Amino acid sequence: MKWGMVIDLQKCTGCGECVAACKLENNVAIVEPKESEMGRTMLWMDMLTMYEGEYPRLRVRQFPRPCMHCDHPPCTKVCPVRATYKNEEGIVAQIYPQCIGCRYCMAACPYTVKSFNWYKPEWAPGIRETTNPDVSVRPAGVVEKCTFCVHRLQKAKEQAKSEGRTLREDDFQTACAESCPAGAIVFGDLDNTGHRVSSLSHSPRATRLLEDLGTEPKVIYLKEVD
Ligand code: SF4
Ligand code: SF4
Repeated sequence: MKWGMVIDLQKCTGCGECVAACKLENNVAIVEPKESEMGRTMLWMDMLTMYEGEYPRLRVRQFPRPCMHCDHPPCTKVCPVRATYKNEEGIVAQIYPQCIGCRYCMAACPYTVKSFNWYKPEWAPGIRETTNPDVSVRPAGVVEKCTFCVHRLQKAKEQAKSEGRTLREDDFQTACAESCPAGAIVFGDLDNTGHRVSSLSHSPRATRLLEDLGTEPKVIYLKEVD
């Protein structure tokens, strides 16, 4: 089993629903503009903007960027306390109580997907009740990032086990994939030919970011048709 994601740039409209859904699902801190200006924005799923050509033939492309859950992740190799690791299903995880906040992993990640948490978990009155109880709240001083919504996977596995069956493709979706109104994000098992993500990953439009680094990202983009 190798969990992975396909993001179809032909379908993505850059609406940002996936970014918002990820923040809500994972209790990611909302940062004041003043803090944001200091580079402290926290996003597990970001929306990147790319400019091609020059005015008046300027083309702007936007694309969602989660953690790539690399098969050869540089981030895990530099962690001095093993607070980040790749599990047997290919998900690159963080162990928050173990993290000492040195940020070596942030420096090692070529995709800049990790955030340092500068903030104590504090909520305005009434907001605490809206947080997701399935996702642990991170203390200040640790590094955090996209988990491929591993808490949803865990729940789906338990449900399947209680029903005496194996996990099905539609048992588990990440919050970003579920929320995308354009159906641009597909999640599943890359090793399972019955999963949509597996066939899409072999599309002639498939490409991966910074492939030449040998990180083997498990997030695959489908290029736009020109
Ligand atoms: S994208 Fe960055 S944080 Fe995610 S697995 Fe790869 S190196 Fe690690
Ligand atoms: S910041 Fe945390 S996870 Fe990253 S290398 Fe340091 S201890 Fe490991």
